[in-house]
Amino acid sequence: MMTVLSDCVAGVDLREHDRCATAPAGGRDPVRIGVGDHVLGSAHGVLKTVIYGDLTSPATMDVYLGVRDAVLRDEGVTCAFRHRLTQPDPVSRIGANFAEVAAHAGLFWPFVDAVATCGCWGTHALRHLRALGVEDELLTDPDVRRAGRARLIDDAGLASAARARTDPSVFINGVPWSPGRGRGIGDDLARLAGTTRPLWDQARGIEHPSL
Ligand SMILES: [Zn+2]
Repeated sequence: MMTVLSDCVAGVDLREHDRCATAPAGGRDPVRIGVGDHVLGSAHGVLKTVIYGDLTSPATMDVYLGVRDAVLRDEGVTCAFRHRLTQPDPVSRIGANFAEVAAHAGLFWPFVDAVATCGCWGTHALRHLRALGVEDELLTDPDVRRAGRARLIDDAGLASAARARTDPSVFINGVPWSPGRGRGIGDDLARLAGTTRPLWDQARGIEHPSL
């Protein structure tokens, strides 16, 4: 059975902070993971994180790596990435387009990961695409290009609806996240993971003494 985390985390009523009751655009909710998103981690994760970011932005890549590590630590974190281009910047558009080409080959996350761990902020985008075995022909395939453009337009609309104005903008279970002094998203996810561990265990069918 799928477990959904309530809107109350760590004693804070997060519903007060949920500013985004906007209707879903293109079938996706502005601040919550939905069908059609690029998703990393279990679909049953109890900490559902939406990142609006730019693959060519060091700040976005830092946040991505923090969330990815939480996914890898098995903390019940699920991550969706949506493009929010730093503008006006043709480089960021190329990064996003290449990611969508990788997605067409089923390699969206390996591509994002390659760019993030390399630290090149997208300047090697083509090199990473080729290293993953993505055929150059996909870059000029009209259907792939059309799908990529549609994704960028959809994501821009969702970013606008979510009022995602910072680089990156992050929502955890629909609630805007902002970095605190001296701590990053990895610390915050680890703290939240502590409070949601029973739900995460339950989602995976693991007996938990407190349930
Ligand atoms: Zn690189």
